[in-house]
Amino acid sequence: MVLSPEKTALVTGGTRGIGRAVVEELAKFGAKVHTCSRNQEELNVCLNDWKSNGLVVSGSVCDASVRDQREKLIQEASSAFSGKLNILINNVGTNVRKPTVEYSSEEYAKIMTTNLESAFHLSQIAHPLLKASGVGSIVFISSVAGLVHLQSGSIYGATKGALNQLTRNLACEWARDNIRTNCVAPWYIKTSLLLEKKDFVEAVVSRTPLGALENQRKSHRWLPFSAFPLHLTLPDRSYPSMEDSPSMVLA
Ligand code: NDP
Repeated sequence: MVLSPEKTALVTGGTRGIGRAVVEELAKFGAKVHTCSRNQEELNVCLNDWKSNGLVVSGSVCDASVRDQREKLIQEASSAFSGKLNILINNVGTNVRKPTVEYSSEEYAKIMTTNLESAFHLSQIAHPLLKASGVGSIVFISSVAGLVHLQSGSIYGATKGALNQLTRNLACEWARDNIRTNCVAPWYIKTSLLLEKKDFVEAVVSRTPLGALENQRKSHRWLPFSAFPLHLTLPDRSYPSMEDSPSMVLA
């Protein structure tokens, strides 16, 4: 697939894991991409790497869990893309995995602001740019943990379930602005977010029919772009099969 060079994309959290894979795939398709992370040094390494590989990617430091920084990020994207944005990938996410009764109010706030509030607010303030582009697309990165119970923690699951419903609402509300809204709910992928705790990983693998987790570098095949005609519904079984698809797209 080739995107026209005028296509612009903002990918949050693009220096590692799924976000980085999305940045690189979009840039290889020909889009101009802007991304962010909290670590300037790591961001610079990525930007140099992308530049040396001929990919058009810009970036800025932003903590997506902080309202002012989200507003600054959208201003930077607007400047970089002349007030128009085709694609917003709300990828940033975090987790603290523990029993529900042990969560502190700080942990609750951190997971909620990073996973849900940031995606809601970024979509809200990117709306004028997406609308101005004439053809807009928002993709939320949810999780299977937002659909069924996993050992990922109740707050994380709640934020991802909320993203699934936010997807449905925006898909209907903003269709009139020619903005499509979709959501990808990945099964576990080996990234820095999935802490390599042996017992947890073993439990996850035991619920993965193929008996192994997806490596982030192999994840490109389920990329969630608007032009990508992949709209799967939940399988009847309780848990996803990597054989069917490592992830699901809700629309
Ligand atoms: P990683 O931890 O591997 O990468 C996260 C990226 O986001 C990094 O670039 C990180 O950079 C950046 N980031 C994290 N927090 C912030 C923040 N507050 N502001 C700005 N940037 C931030 O995560 P994954 O690739 O594993 O996860 C990406 C998304 O996919 C998340 O929403 C996650 O919930 C979801 N997901 C992941 C699954 C998995 O198995 N890995 C399964 C299902 C869903 P830095 O830390 O420097 O800011």
